[in-house]
Amino acid sequence: MNFNLTEEQLLLQQTIRDFVIKEVIPHAKEWDEKEEVPLNTLKKLSELGLMGMTIDSKYGGAALDTVSIATVIEELARGDGSLALTIAAHNGLLCGHISIFGSEDQKKKYLPDLASGKKLGGWALTEPGSGSDASAMKTTAKKNGNDWIINGTKMFISNSTIGEVFVVLTVTDPAKKQKGITAFILEKGDNGFKSGKKLEKMGMRSSDTGELILEDVKIPDSRRLGELNQGFINTLMMLDKGRIGIGALAVGLAQAALDESLKYVNQRETFGKLLKEHEVIRFMLADMKTEIEAARLLIYRAASLASEGKPFTLEASVAKLFASEMAMRVCNKGIQIHGGYGYSREFPVERYLRDAKLCEIGEGTSEVQRMVIARELLKFIS
Ligand SMILES: Cc1cc2nc3c(=O)[nH]c(=O)nc-3n(C[C@H](O)[C@H](O)[C@H](O)COP(=O)(O)OP(=O)(O)OC[C@H]3O[C@@H](n4cnc5c(N)ncnc54)[C@H](O)[C@@H]3O)c2cc1C
Repeated sequence: MNFNLTEEQLLLQQTIRDFVIKEVIPHAKEWDEKEEVPLNTLKKLSELGLMGMTIDSKYGGAALDTVSIATVIEELARGDGSLALTIAAHNGLLCGHISIFGSEDQKKKYLPDLASGKKLGGWALTEPGSGSDASAMKTTAKKNGNDWIINGTKMFISNSTIGEVFVVLTVTDPAKKQKGITAFILEKGDNGFKSGKKLEKMGMRSSDTGELILEDVKIPDSRRLGELNQGFINTLMMLDKGRIGIGALAVGLAQAALDESLKYVNQRETFGKLLKEHEVIRFMLADMKTEIEAARLLIYRAASLASEGKPFTLEASVAKLFASEMAMRVCNKGIQIHGGYGYSREFPVERYLRDAKLCEIGEGTSEVQRMVIARELLKFIS
């Protein structure tokens, strides 16, 4: 078993780390306060190939393996969780879904602009009335000759106002429930398709999250993504990979909390000693490091299985569950080590904690991960 990153992966990691130190960390606080997506920074990340990580080189993508992608997301999150989320939603969910299930014509039409960053986009499953129970969705697509008419509202969609291309999940055969769901590719120029309200959030504030409104959107059958009524099954596969991304994001936030804590304990004195000289503080640092390493290895294991084309549903859920709950514990310790300053907005540890909370919710809550893990465990037990 090899736990080491390859030379190429190490180089990529270092490139993103350098970029984050120079271009992300100095601005992340301001982006969070303004609740603004840093479009100029996204442009620079496009130049590094980060908009096409899941896209084949034939369509202009970087075609990275899943371990490399997890490494990139972790490094971005070390600087700014919101930026990592924006990139993860565009790459993993949107571009990943079109890359895996799109027709050749769809790939040629959409992937080059998505890979170059000329167009951003998102992936829309959740609705106001359905999240964990995604198959309870109400958005419908009804056949009308060779066209489809789509109606409904999607909720909590990342990149909803800045995105131009979206994969949208709809009900095409209500009687069949999960087996009656189909994905379509929608463009912002489509008549009746628009962004709704942008949400105000506790964390991930410089990522763009909001509603998508679909009112009698008429699109040709050539926009159907994948087989009719196979959308839900395909979605489960996308979520498995997405969970590795969110887990990696959680590891990045936790690492950032440890990085900041290590700096702080070397500056702050109490009772005539630097914080780093108090054993209780040293033990907190040791626990933070141990938990981060454990989560990172779980992420790498799930990502390696995905890269090798082996089953990874169980491993992705285990990794995502542990990493996201670990990030909450570690960021919380980061605040504790900073004392009152940790609770103030002067130091970034409070932002890491706010951002980390999303990791316990997005792409399947912790409860949903436990449901998946238990289901996988009990699959072969009669
Ligand atoms: C910042 C952000 C970005 C997001 N981006 C996207 C995106 O790009 N695309 C997209 O489609 N969605 C996105 N989401 C939505 C996200 O995936 C959902 O919020 C999540 O799946 C939970 O759904 P819900 O909010 O409807 O909660 P609910 O499903 O209503 O759950 C509420 C609570 O009940 C628990 N619960 C539900 N059912 C059970 C059960 N059977 N047993 C035990 N507990 C249960 C849940 O775990 C949770 O704690 C995003 C959300 C956020 C906050």
